[in-house]
Amino acid sequence: MKALMLSFVACGLLFGLAEHAAAADPAKTPGPLAQDNPFAQPSPLPYQLPPFDKIQDAHFRPAFEAGMAEHRKEAEAIARNAEVPSFENTIVAMERSGRLLGRVSAVFFNMTSANTNPELDKIDQEMAPRLAAHRDAISLDPLLFARVKTLYEGRAGLGLDPESLRLLERYHTQFVRAGAPLSEADKARLRKMNEQLSSLTTQFQQNLLKATNNGAVVVDRLSDLEGLSEEQIGAAAQAAKTRKLDGKWVITLQNTTGQPVLAQIKSRALRERIYKASIGRADGGPSDNVALVAQIVKLRAERAALLGYVNHAAYVLEDETAGSAGAVNKMLSSLAPAAEANARKEAAEMQKVIDLQEKGAPGGPFKLQPWDWAFYAEQVRQAQYAYDESQVRPYLELDRVVKDGLFYAAHELYGLSFKERTDLPVYQPDVRTYEIFNEDGSPLGLFLTDFFARDNKIGGAWMSEYVSQSGLLGLKPVIANHLNVVKPPAGQPALLSFDELTTLFHEFGHGLHGLLSNVRYPLFSGTSVPNDFVEFPSQGNEMWATDPGVLAHYAKHYSTGEPMPQALVDKVLAARKFNEGFATTEYLAASLLDQAWHQIPASQAPAAKGVMAFEAEALKRNGVDYYAVPPRYHTPYFAHIFANDYAAGYYSYIWADVLAKDAEHWFRTHGGLQRANGDFLRAKVLSRGFSADSITLFKEFYGREPEVGPLLEARGLTVVPEGGKPGR
Ligand SMILES: [Zn+2]
Repeated sequence: MKALMLSFVACGLLFGLAEHAAAADPAKTPGPLAQDNPFAQPSPLPYQLPPFDKIQDAHFRPAFEAGMAEHRKEAEAIARNAEVPSFENTIVAMERSGRLLGRVSAVFFNMTSANTNPELDKIDQEMAPRLAAHRDAISLDPLLFARVKTLYEGRAGLGLDPESLRLLERYHTQFVRAGAPLSEADKARLRKMNEQLSSLTTQFQQNLLKATNNGAVVVDRLSDLEGLSEEQIGAAAQAAKTRKLDGKWVITLQNTTGQPVLAQIKSRALRERIYKASIGRADGGPSDNVALVAQIVKLRAERAALLGYVNHAAYVLEDETAGSAGAVNKMLSSLAPAAEANARKEAAEMQKVIDLQEKGAPGGPFKLQPWDWAFYAEQVRQAQYAYDESQVRPYLELDRVVKDGLFYAAHELYGLSFKERTDLPVYQPDVRTYEIFNEDGSPLGLFLTDFFARDNKIGGAWMSEYVSQSGLLGLKPVIANHLNVVKPPAGQPALLSFDELTTLFHEFGHGLHGLLSNVRYPLFSGTSVPNDFVEFPSQGNEMWATDPGVLAHYAKHYSTGEPMPQALVDKVLAARKFNEGFATTEYLAASLLDQAWHQIPASQAPAAKGVMAFEAEALKRNGVDYYAVPPRYHTPYFAHIFANDYAAGYYSYIWADVLAKDAEHWFRTHGGLQRANGDFLRAKVLSRGFSADSITLFKEFYGREPEVGPLLEARGLTVVPEGGKPGR
């Protein structure tokens, strides 16, 4: 869940129902872009790699202006074309449009994430509403939609090949979903709703930030902090000072229900205070989000109705791999009983520890509460699964893992070879560039790695594209992977943790999805698939990190070259299944809560005072109200769905993981790391982007619908719930 995938490349047209302020004035037509602006023409470098050595901050603003103007002009020319609409003069023309905007967007949004500065941040704030308005102007253009509709209605007679037919259908779908068929009055209502939602969700985020800050727990006695490290206590004293509470300590809150410090703090009373501060955030008080939720949920439902859907989830899920609320409900509810049965087993083990330790305490042993979970889980972990991270790192040297792990697996599976190019410009000296070739020597694309943490780089890990593959435009992919590994001192090797290793393989899975793309149309390129499918190739690629053949190839001591001892490997692998009952249950509870909020019509949206009762009822009805494992997010601080783009979509992480673990099962039962297997996955899934419906791609690969059994097994969720068996 930590590793994101960001895809910034603007292709042809951008669609969406963004909850943004779309009120910006249309831009004045700028003059032509200066020819010495590096975005003015396609890059002359191999694979059209951006000329990083020539791009300066001052180039972005004029390139955006000219890019939007050019795109608007192209769209108008298509819309007002006097010729009868044809697939070529309408759909293909749109696919070819917006190239300048695409070039500048790709570099700009990569830079604001990976290598930003105050000037770029300023341009970003300035451009965000402008780009949103630009998008709306095109997707709500009635003349453009009229041409698409004419073609769509006559599609059977156009003699299109399957990919072209799908392209036409997707354009039609996207225009419809953006609201193009609405009357002008309804379009105005839609714009107003989007604006209102934009302001409500922004307010939700701002309230949450305040409530989280105000929810920080003040501690008066140092003795209460027993269990924390000196650094943590120092940080807590510093946090108190910042708040003018000298001589005290302040524990700040993280965004989730669970708080990491609960694993360490010995004082049960303090644990309870921290936990209650966490779950009480933004539920009433001066930064109340409850009233906002009531309004957001109602407005989203009304907007869905305006667009012709029974509720917001129906709108969102229609365009995802899942396809419908029914399919999501079925998947989540098939996982929940197994997850909870395992969580209860974990709780029972912890209760044993409590009973033993508290036998002689006044009042006897207590019953495990949510604020105790992390603390006793940590004790069980120490006793049963502990390994020392510093023993593992020397076997995971970054360069060797990349060459003998990542690239090795890609060679064995897909026949790829990698050649470092030191002659091409980079935006930062730590970035490395590789040219990739197929087995027959034909060039595939470029792969950029940017692995070290910097102050001007956002946290986490992600994949992005500078150039998206497209047969129509004759483009081969230029793909980048970003991590935040701490950079070692000069001359020292970069040694990874096991988590970082997994993330590396994860992001390279996204990378391969972009690199192996072999589609005609830009709209379908590589990772331009639904949210609940995009994590499938990445989570799937994680399997090669722990594949015995691959691991033996890269996991060697950086100085002695000794292989990683098997006992250590086994310990690391066993630890990965620890506490998964809890983790999966809290995640599923939040996912089901998200669905409950978005599977109702406006008439059923509760008033502010009924919001928390709605939540409690939804958790109960879905069987995820086990008192010891609360949802990962309670409604008032569930920013994924009330401030970000995951409304009705929080389930996607586990949906994609079901596909990934199912695919891993397929590999295991078909001989594992073999060229024939890799080629099959490449042919059926990785090369096809979104040129076919995602669930169809999966079924053509596996030969059946996805099943949840392998995921339960991979997470160690093997305790059978009463009255049924998990999985297959
Ligand atoms: Zn990912």
